[in-house]
Amino acid sequence: MEKMQFKAESQRLLDLMINSIYTHREIFLREIISNASDAMDKLAYLALTDDQVGISRQEMAITIVRDEAARTITVSDDGIGMSRAEMEENLGTIAKSGSLSFKQAMEKSEDIDIIGQFGVGFYSAFMVASKVTVISRKYGEDQAWQWESDGADGYTISPAQKDAPGTQIIMTLKEDTEEENYSEFLEEYKVRELVRKYSDYIRYPIRMEVSKSRKKEDEDGYESYMEEDTLNSMVPLWQRARKDVTEEEYEGFYREKFFDYEKPLHCIHTSAEGTVSYKALLYIPGRAPMDFYSKDFKRGLQLYSAGVMIMEACEDLLPEHFRFVRGVVDSQDLSLNISREMLQHDRQLMVIARNIEKKIRSELKSMMDSDREKYEKFYAAFGRQLKYGTVADYGAHKDSTKDLLMFWSHKQGKLIALREYVEAMSEGQEKIYYVVGQSRDRLGKLPQVQTLAAKGYDVLICTEDVDEFIPNTLMGYEEKSFCNAATEDLGLQTEDEKKALEEKTEELKGFLTFLQQSLDQQVKEVRLSSSLGEHPVAMVPEAGMSFEMEKYMKRMDPNFAYPVGRILELNPEHETVKAVLSTMTSDPVRAKDLAQLLCYQAQLMAELPIEDPVAYTELVCRLVI
Ligand code: ADP
Repeated sequence: MEKMQFKAESQRLLDLMINSIYTHREIFLREIISNASDAMDKLAYLALTDDQVGISRQEMAITIVRDEAARTITVSDDGIGMSRAEMEENLGTIAKSGSLSFKQAMEKSEDIDIIGQFGVGFYSAFMVASKVTVISRKYGEDQAWQWESDGADGYTISPAQKDAPGTQIIMTLKEDTEEENYSEFLEEYKVRELVRKYSDYIRYPIRMEVSKSRKKEDEDGYESYMEEDTLNSMVPLWQRARKDVTEEEYEGFYREKFFDYEKPLHCIHTSAEGTVSYKALLYIPGRAPMDFYSKDFKRGLQLYSAGVMIMEACEDLLPEHFRFVRGVVDSQDLSLNISREMLQHDRQLMVIARNIEKKIRSELKSMMDSDREKYEKFYAAFGRQLKYGTVADYGAHKDSTKDLLMFWSHKQGKLIALREYVEAMSEGQEKIYYVVGQSRDRLGKLPQVQTLAAKGYDVLICTEDVDEFIPNTLMGYEEKSFCNAATEDLGLQTEDEKKALEEKTEELKGFLTFLQQSLDQQVKEVRLSSSLGEHPVAMVPEAGMSFEMEKYMKRMDPNFAYPVGRILELNPEHETVKAVLSTMTSDPVRAKDLAQLLCYQAQLMAELPIEDPVAYTELVCRLVI
């Protein structure tokens, strides 16, 4: 019989398989079973239009036979089978799908470890078998064919006998070595385990003879016997009723499917019937993956149509602000062979996506209300994503996220929701006060924050870059407007107080001009303020801007050259300010130095860098002498 050689690239893949590391070998069974299932899908599909087929989906099954004496494990199916030409084409060359992408990945990396992540196809049988025999009869043909290969020196094809259409893959296992045990694949428990692990949702029964025991009829005791049993549950977890799935099963599914070694924080199992029906099993991970806040992270849910996966990560099912959610969605209303582009505009898909978003939001909301500790854990991992989602697209999704946000409450010393802030507002308080900066501690000591605290008002202390953008995006919350306590008018003055301040400003006009001239380019304006509490001075930004924004821009681009205008505010009641005022007439040179010192102080309080620390030190030394 003529020996045919594998195509060159197939040979390379084959060599990889033969020499693969042990831990991945067990996936061979998954690959062979999945091919069998595909072949039966094809025949079942044909049966829809061809009544000659004579076998329906319900009658089809995959059978596994273990033969310890011959060291073979055989997987048979009732599928569409292969003709002689197809055998040559499909088994002599690297097939299109799975193995090809595997090969491409292999070319980029020599890391053999990636095998487990790919559908590597038929050749994976050579990871455990020294010889593979395929006997197949194509549906509609009478002649069956046998393909046989030991991997290394090509393959043969010869005529064979087979009663019904379908395929049989006979794998003769390699001999055990000191390190490696192939015989375990002949054992019942091992095969059961592999089927449960990798092929549980295959929609055809996977049958095998298994040992059972029963009570002996006349005597006492038990006897064991063999009986064919179905190894797989066939029903995906998400298709089962919630009450029938245990916590462990939900967790196990998550870990296996999404390669996380940690428990998920929360699991959402939901379904809908009606115009669009679907089942979804969604998880909120316990922590953010390493690449979560980078461009590499791919959002999306696995999309199934009636139990068959059609997309690994369907982005359109998940809004950006909930990109941390992992899971699967299964809907029989989606067509199997719909293209990606069409899917984007698919009405059904859009309805599902909307429902899923609502569901995630309501689950998070109720977690926030009923289990704050858990929600805080969630928020520590993904709160930042909710904030990004709030400000993204000019706030297009803010209604989805605003009730899920939390900020640090100065008054309560913990994270609170905006609703909680508003509910706890004091009599007469009109605004939601917040400050933004690097350190919670230092922000808490800002004069404005202390002034508000003295009135019993709470202030939200924000320490993340993105926080700066949230008040502007939300514009307000429940008809209350936001007020940046460090930069905006606190709105606490009465008309009388305002008038008094104006009069005082008029009175001190000369002093203010003197300070302005002394500080020259450093500040845009010097003015009086009545909200500085115990502090003599504060540096505030020009209207509409903030120093945090400036710092943020600088971090993004070190050459950023548009500093926010600085305004020096003075507390006219403070003894220090009064002292500088009297020095102005007695010793203008010294008063100029003092003005500079106040300016430095205000800068430090506002967490603004002092450009020239040497000048600062010299100034202090001069004033001490
Ligand atoms: P893939 O399944 O990714 O296409 P494989 O290497 O696993 O790649 O299989 C190659 C091809 O061989 C399949 O596409 C299919 O046409 C054919 N094939 C494999 N196993 C079977 C089977 N049990 N019945 C019918 N055809 C099969």
